[in-house]
Amino acid sequence: MYYKSTRNSNIRVESAEAISRGISEDGGLFVPESIPEISLEELSSLSELSYAKRAAFVFSKYLTDFTEAELVYCTESAYSSKNFDTENIAEIAHLFDGTYMLELWHGPTCAFKDMALQILPYFLTTSVKKLKLDSKIVILVATSGDTGKAALEGFKDVEGTQIMVFYPEEGVSEMQKRQMVTQEGDNVTVCAVKGNFDDCQSGVKQIFTNSEVVQSLKDGGMSFSSANSINWGRLVPQIVYYVSSYSLLASQGELKMGEPLNVVVPTGNFGNILAAYYAKKMGVPIGKLICASNVNKVLTDFINTGIYDKNRDFYATISPSMDILISSNLERLLYLLTNENDEQIREWFGALASEGKYEVNDEVKSVLQKEFYGGYCADEETESTIKEIYEKYGYTCDTHTAVAVKVYQDYKNATGDTTKTLIASTASPYKFSASVLNAIQKDAVCDDEYEMVEKLSELSDIPVPVSLAELKTKERRFTGSIDKLDMKKFVLHELGLN
Ligand SMILES: *Cc1c(COP(=O)(O)O)cnc(C)c1O
Repeated sequence: MYYKSTRNSNIRVESAEAISRGISEDGGLFVPESIPEISLEELSSLSELSYAKRAAFVFSKYLTDFTEAELVYCTESAYSSKNFDTENIAEIAHLFDGTYMLELWHGPTCAFKDMALQILPYFLTTSVKKLKLDSKIVILVATSGDTGKAALEGFKDVEGTQIMVFYPEEGVSEMQKRQMVTQEGDNVTVCAVKGNFDDCQSGVKQIFTNSEVVQSLKDGGMSFSSANSINWGRLVPQIVYYVSSYSLLASQGELKMGEPLNVVVPTGNFGNILAAYYAKKMGVPIGKLICASNVNKVLTDFINTGIYDKNRDFYATISPSMDILISSNLERLLYLLTNENDEQIREWFGALASEGKYEVNDEVKSVLQKEFYGGYCADEETESTIKEIYEKYGYTCDTHTAVAVKVYQDYKNATGDTTKTLIASTASPYKFSASVLNAIQKDAVCDDEYEMVEKLSELSDIPVPVSLAELKTKERRFTGSIDKLDMKKFVLHELGLN
C-alpha cells in the first residue's frame, strides 16, 4: 500500500515514510492510494479477538510495509490494561434502545485522543528504525486541549524524540491545563499561546513548512514530525474502533450482521469522523455519518451549503476541543470525493489559505450530503442535554459528547430515521467538571476543581480516574505564555538552534 499527497498525486511513499514525515512537503496530507476491504466474515470473526488483535488486523491492511512482528509489538504495547482502565479498551454503553455510546476515554488522559496517541509513538519509532533515519524526531503539537496531553503522555521519555505542545492560553479547561503544565518527562515542553487554537495550529504549520527552519533542524541532526491528526499514524488507529464496535454489536445480537449503523461524532478537526468514513468505505455497514458541532459551526454550514467559510467570529465554548474553524482532515475527504483530483484540492485549499473560503462543486456537494448530516448546538442546549441524559438514563456525559447527543436528537426529529446509532463519547466528564456540574447541579459549582470532582463522583456512578486524581498535588512545571508571532523563535530556542 502506497500513500499519496492530497496536493500532488505523483508523490508516492510507504506508510513508514508517511508517518515519520507527518505532512507532505507540498503542504498536502498523506492518504492511502486505495481503501482496503473488510468482508462481513472477517468483521464477524474479529469479535472473538482482543482489541489489540483487532487493531493489528486493520493495520495489516494499511501499513503493509510493517512486519507482522512490528504490528504485534505496536498494538500489544499500546492497547493493554496497563494503559487503559478497562480490558475492552473502548467500552460500549447502552443509552437507550438501539442507541449506544462508544466510550473512547478509558485511556491515560481520559479523552479519545489516547486511542491514537498511545500507539503513534510506537508507529513513529518503528518507522524511523525501518527507514534507518538517525535524526532525532521533534514533535510539534497544536492543541485545543486534549491532543496535547495525550501526545505528551504518549511521547514522554520515548528515546529519540522531543515533544513541544502549544495550547491557547484561555481556550482550555482548568483540568486540561493542569494535565499539561504538570507533565513529567525529560523530553517535553509545554507553552501557552496568547491566541486561539487556530493561531496555534497555523503557527505550527508555518514552522513545519518553513524551509529555513527545516534546514537548521537537519543541520542539527533533527527532523519534525506531527502528532496532530494530519498524521496518518493518528488517523488509522481511529478506524479500528469503528470496525471493532460494529463487530461487537453484531456478535452481541444488537445488530444483524450487515444491518446499517449510523454514527454520530462530535467534530473539530474532522479526524474522528473521517476515520468512521474510512471504516464505511472498507465495508463496515455504516449508514449516515452525523457530524456534530458547537456554535463554531463551519462544518454544519459546509455540509448544508457546500461553502467552507472560516471568515466568522470565533467562540470559546464549553466544548473547547471543538472550537475550531479550520478542520484539516476535510482535505482528505475532499480528495476522496473528487476522485483524487489534486489540482482541485490545491485550488480550494489555496483559496482557503488566501481568502479563508472555498466552494465545492455540485457533484461533491451531493455526495457529501448523501454521506453526511451536519448539525450544531449552543452551550445552553449542551447543558440541557447533559441534564436530560443524566436524569432520564442515569448517564453522565461530558460537554463534547452532549453536543453529539443533541445533534443526534435533532437529526432523528428532522428525518424520522430510526436506524441503530453509535454515538462517539469523546471525553470523561471529569475533564470538564465545572461545565458538567453546572448542567446537573448548578449550586455545586465552586472555585475548587477537586471539590467539584468529588461532587461529580457522588452524582455519577463513574469512578474518578486515577490519572486526574493524582494531579491535585503535582507541581506546575510550565507556566510561561508567548505571543503567537513568537512560536518559531520559541521552538528554535528550545532546540538550542539560535
Ligand atoms: C479532539 C476532540 C474532539 C474533536 O475530534 P476531531 O477528530 O478533531 O474532529 C471532540 N471531542 C473531544 C473531547 C476531543 O478531544
